[in-house]
Amino acid sequence: MTGAKSLGEFELIDRFFSRPSSVAARSDVILGVGDDAALLCMPAGADLVAAVDTVVAGRHFPLDSDARSIGHRALAVNLSDIAAMGATPAWATLALTMPRADEQWLQGFADGLMALADAHGVALVGGDTTSGHLTVSIQIMGHVPRGTAMLRSGAREGDLLVVTGTLGDAGAGLALVTARMATDDRAASDHLIERFEYPIPRVQFGIAARGIANAAMDLSDGLVGDLPKLARASGLAAHVDVGRLPLSRAMQSLGWDDQARDWALAAGDDYELLLAVPPTRLDELSDAAHRLDLKLTAIGELRRGNGVHWTLDGRAFSAPAHGYDHFL
Ligand code: ADP
Ligand code: MG
Repeated sequence: MTGAKSLGEFELIDRFFSRPSSVAARSDVILGVGDDAALLCMPAGADLVAAVDTVVAGRHFPLDSDARSIGHRALAVNLSDIAAMGATPAWATLALTMPRADEQWLQGFADGLMALADAHGVALVGGDTTSGHLTVSIQIMGHVPRGTAMLRSGAREGDLLVVTGTLGDAGAGLALVTARMATDDRAASDHLIERFEYPIPRVQFGIAARGIANAAMDLSDGLVGDLPKLARASGLAAHVDVGRLPLSRAMQSLGWDDQARDWALAAGDDYELLLAVPPTRLDELSDAAHRLDLKLTAIGELRRGNGVHWTLDGRAFSAPAHGYDHFL
């Protein structure tokens, strides 16, 4: 691109992604960026928890998104997977593919990514840099005390289904940034766009919920896409009262009622946690959420059977057919 200063591969890795300070802060990083591979030291008696998530320009975020938001989101979606397991995040590697090495873009991207990494004490220990269509793939690694990770398959009959935060905000935010929807309510609009651009992975809550909840997953594809996965993995039927889905004040103030409910059910990108908790332990989980200033809402329960059964005002409700799916 004319006007933009271009950098070589090694210079850009050195400038933006090799951060000795964040590595020095972790005694479990024996070797970070710079060699053929990173060397990491697992705590004794822990299970390694690893996940990878890719975000593609024009697919997971609009092509003209702010670089800082792209950096933040790419890591946030991965931290959200770690949170869903109840794990403590520790290390990440970054595979970055971009059309050109634009210094200003890289600065914003690295700022967004590193600010979130620092907030969670995560060290970037390696990666790969290539040219092509803008694609960011992050591998995250963390750990849990052996055998304690929260699985999708752990739910029991009678467990309550609870969700953190509010649902549908990111769907509304995306509709607003892409101008599919518009409003004069600037404060509400800013809040919803922020929820899309800067999702907050529920890492501390995931750790707190470990040992209380029987099962958990994060909501990346919307409840209609994700809940069937938990129900199926646990061999149970999920019953959800759609009227109880938590909507943010910003969302409610816009008065887009049916649309808001659809976003809450199917838009995805919220990165809240969905958990199954025995009724006897709901108070404990609510206290943990309260301490983190996080809203927690019971939306239904798990019973014998299979599938997901939606109701609204006591009647069967037909939910949107599917959540976000790349191939549908
Ligand atoms: P190799 O050819 O051995 O894969 P590279 O030349 O690709 O090594 O990378 C050199 C070093 O820089 C490696 O330690 C690699 O992990 C790291 N690295 C490359 N790209 C990134 C990136 N985008 N973020 C963080 N580390 C990176
Ligand atoms: Mg390489």
